[in-house]
Amino acid sequence: MNDDAVIGLFSDSYAQARQQVLQAAAEAGAGVQSHEMPLRGRDGETLAMDLVWDGPADACRLLMTTSAVHGVEGHASAAVQCGLLRCSAELRRLAGPRTALLHVHAVNPHGFSHGRRVNEDNVDLNRNFVDFARPLPANPDYDQIHHLLLPDTWPPGANNEAALHALTAAWEPRRAQRAVTQGQFSHADGLFYGGRGPTWSHLRFRELLHRQVAGRQHLAWIDLHTGLGPAGVGERIFACRNTAQTLARARRWWGHGVTQVETGTSSSVPLAGPIQHAVLDGLPQLRYTGICLEYGTVPQERMHAVLRADHWLHRHPDAPAALAAVIRRDLRDAFYVDTPAWKLAVWSQALEATQQALRGLCDDEEEG
Ligand SMILES: [Zn+2]
Repeated sequence: MNDDAVIGLFSDSYAQARQQVLQAAAEAGAGVQSHEMPLRGRDGETLAMDLVWDGPADACRLLMTTSAVHGVEGHASAAVQCGLLRCSAELRRLAGPRTALLHVHAVNPHGFSHGRRVNEDNVDLNRNFVDFARPLPANPDYDQIHHLLLPDTWPPGANNEAALHALTAAWEPRRAQRAVTQGQFSHADGLFYGGRGPTWSHLRFRELLHRQVAGRQHLAWIDLHTGLGPAGVGERIFACRNTAQTLARARRWWGHGVTQVETGTSSSVPLAGPIQHAVLDGLPQLRYTGICLEYGTVPQERMHAVLRADHWLHRHPDAPAALAAVIRRDLRDAFYVDTPAWKLAVWSQALEATQQALRGLCDDEEEG
């Protein structure tokens, strides 16, 4: 694919991204199953989680990609899926007769359409995969700073910023990051909120795993995200149960740069309820090798500022239209760097990681 074709994979809206992916799926001869939401999108469009199956129906090995678990991150991750479908013939040759590709387009279609990272209920899907029958994880550090993160007025006054700084400056840096981003279950209108029960996306995603993935031999999964780390760099974050054997396999496939949240080598921190729990807890017998491919965009301080603004706006729906527009645009810009260089970097690293996973699946079977 030449540079112009790669840049053309990226869409300005959920509706456009969905149309591009469905068209690429049709051209590749891939099967599509759409799960429509009972809600409409920003422009009145249908919202759906679309499953695109590219390869033999009876494949014993599967490479799955997921886009827009965090809605607004879908601008990049849907582009990657569209590109992988355009390269279907080449990837299918690499995959061989016993491996299929499954692209789950827009796990969080509402957030993608409405330009938010969270879902229709302000829930972060990547904190929602907890066992709601058990006591929910506590996050006392978040409880301390919630009122400072989301003050009554926006932009926050000098007193607010000083109070927040005074509190978090006493913490070691990772503690402040953990407090905000690891997930919290106490403030439904707050940041990185995990919810009170399984969301629509959570339930549909578990169903799809049981229907499409259960019973196969080996699942590889690349879960695509943006917003953490240096701009344009795709960090490969180990997203499996942490056993030496699985980590070694992931590094054999994707290189020694595969990072881990538990050891501090990742720009992310351990999360409450990531979507990978659906496989780890839901299909414990399945052989599974996965990463989050997380592309950097803007510095972390900037990211936190725009996420606070976005949540403030959610709490103040009658905010002045001009302020609301700036907040929405800033959020999108923080997750989607609309430059050719960034888009080309996103695509080349995703294609490489996909090829590596397909080779890895084949080699793994040969090794037994
Ligand atoms: Zn994300």
